[in-house]
Amino acid sequence: MITEARRTLISRYTIAEVWQDTSNGHHSLHSTGAYQPGEVISAFTAASIWATPSYLTVQISNDKHIMLAPQFLEYINHSCDPNAFFDTTSFQLVCLKPIFPGDQFTFFYPSAEWNMAQPFACRCGSANCIGEITGASQLPEALLYRYRFTDFIRSKLDAAQQQD
Ligand SMILES: [Zn+2]
Repeated sequence: MITEARRTLISRYTIAEVWQDTSNGHHSLHSTGAYQPGEVISAFTAASIWATPSYLTVQISNDKHIMLAPQFLEYINHSCDPNAFFDTTSFQLVCLKPIFPGDQFTFFYPSAEWNMAQPFACRCGSANCIGEITGASQLPEALLYRYRFTDFIRSKLDAAQQQD
């Protein structure tokens, strides 16, 4: 086991390492490789499918929320300036901006969640942090152009806008 000043290595996989922050217990997933935008980081699939969301699931349709396989992908945290994206059409985790070895993988939670199980106050620290993180259905309209959303979420956003 490797322990640094503020974090401990929990587990290591081919493409990533799980670290735990020793000050707050939070886990994070860090890349062991380098990726350019558009590159596929990992394929994923459904370990199980649930009718309601939890903080670990990814939404793939109105009533289907999947637990991720490989399971370590569930340690990818939210950021308002994400470097990865769960494409729930191709079932691939895709790079959004350059990733270097050691970088934490992050994704934008609302990109794949219509209604969030547990809205939270973001502390991602990015310059464009949006603060309160909710599902895509609750996001201010201006933010809908800043981020990439799954095809499923995008179709719901388009349908909602047509009703306005
Ligand atoms: Zn943020």
